[in-house]
Amino acid sequence: MNKLELSRALDIAEKIRKKEIDEGEVYDSYVKKIEKVNPSLNIFVDVYPGKERLQGDSPLRGVPIAVKDNICVEGKKITCASRILKSHIAVYDATVIKRIKDNGLAVIGTTNMDEFAFGSSTENSCYGPAKNPWNKDYVVGGSSGGSAAAVAARLVPMALGSDTGGSIRQPASLCGVVGFKPTYGRVSRYGLVAFGSSLDQIGPITTNFCDCAYLLNIICGFDERDSTSVKIGAPDFTRSLDDNIRDIKIGIPKEYFGEGLDGEVDSAIKKTIDFYKEKGAEVKEISLPHTEYAVATYYIIASSEASSNLQRFDGVRYGLRTGSAKDLKSLYLDSRKEGLGGEAKRRIFLGTHSLSSGYYDAYYLKALKSRRLIKNDFDRAFEKVDAILTPTSPTPAFKIGEKTDDPLLMYLSDIYTISVNLAGLPAVSFPCAFTKGNLPIGAQLIGREFQEDTLIKLGYAFQESTDYHKRIPELDL
Ligand code: GLN
Repeated sequence: MNKLELSRALDIAEKIRKKEIDEGEVYDSYVKKIEKVNPSLNIFVDVYPGKERLQGDSPLRGVPIAVKDNICVEGKKITCASRILKSHIAVYDATVIKRIKDNGLAVIGTTNMDEFAFGSSTENSCYGPAKNPWNKDYVVGGSSGGSAAAVAARLVPMALGSDTGGSIRQPASLCGVVGFKPTYGRVSRYGLVAFGSSLDQIGPITTNFCDCAYLLNIICGFDERDSTSVKIGAPDFTRSLDDNIRDIKIGIPKEYFGEGLDGEVDSAIKKTIDFYKEKGAEVKEISLPHTEYAVATYYIIASSEASSNLQRFDGVRYGLRTGSAKDLKSLYLDSRKEGLGGEAKRRIFLGTHSLSSGYYDAYYLKALKSRRLIKNDFDRAFEKVDAILTPTSPTPAFKIGEKTDDPLLMYLSDIYTISVNLAGLPAVSFPCAFTKGNLPIGAQLIGREFQEDTLIKLGYAFQESTDYHKRIPELDL
């Protein structure tokens, strides 16, 4: 591990600014490391050798950043880890990429993910599973597993992921890094390949809260190209890097500590709660009574939206086209049959079924109503508390292959993260402990709409008193 890899992104940028190191050398040293490590961990899909000329300036100028393979980078491959897009080249920059480039960061490559972001383990990828840098037999979480693992293994100082039901936070938890999902509407979705348009949000994955705040400053803000972008000024998030959390009220939802929660995760979260009490926060039990409906509600809504969003991959407009078509119908059918993986097909079936006449009222409409009840639970809770603390994932990383035959079991990996997307709230996962087997455990903080700053403050306070975020996996290549 060289010194660079031990540093925060912010410190790397400072060294570049002071001309202690050259930004080209920084970039090349990360490319070299990725090329060395990637054959055994399968974290990156594409690496761009040779830094392009950087435009713009910011406190992160010169920092290399990895991007999940569902965010458009002009002139580069964007595949969503799907055979159907394997040769597709993005024709424009996503708004977040434009902002990143305008601030002088260097996009270094794209990371492995679950196909179209369907999954919780990065096993549903046409490139095969990414492997956890803490232990190669274990999953990285998903669907932004490649981005989380890249940051954990210090293959890159920071990365972008997308989160529809937990896909930034859950892999961040399983890899031991900070993964932040901003409020719905805070970050433009223009140029993000849509999964569930009412749920998707892009966010940063970093080793620590300082880098997270600086990157949020860059990517947040109104964008007229995204009709769901909210016209609200973003604060300077770095102002919240302050560990005085006295009198902040934290709620602990009793429904999040029941059946299915791993014992080591449970006790890690309890210790995190104790930390906050000692630091002067006010901690109280709360109730989110409709939590039990969250998984069913999410999988109906997310799959319905996905089935609609995926209609465009038809063999005519994008990517793979079958060679065996006899007529127009078989062109559609065979291109999709050959191009899409099993989980994508499952979501399309589930979604089109829920939306079909005769079932719409029973499933989709019912799910929309229950989504409202889940949101109301949070609204009520936030009358009493400023933030909510929960586990991010019910278990630490599990073994590769362990849940691939049981989609329902896999869906339960998101039990603590998906309500947040249904309600459009901001939330973050940060490393709070390690298991006896040396796998990371993450804690989740959930905030009020557009109050990301409270979460940064609380996370920063924990980080300043602990060193879990400084632990680095020893790579056995
Ligand atoms: N694991 C969830 C799913 O498979 C969430 C995915 C995501 O956030 N993109 O739908």
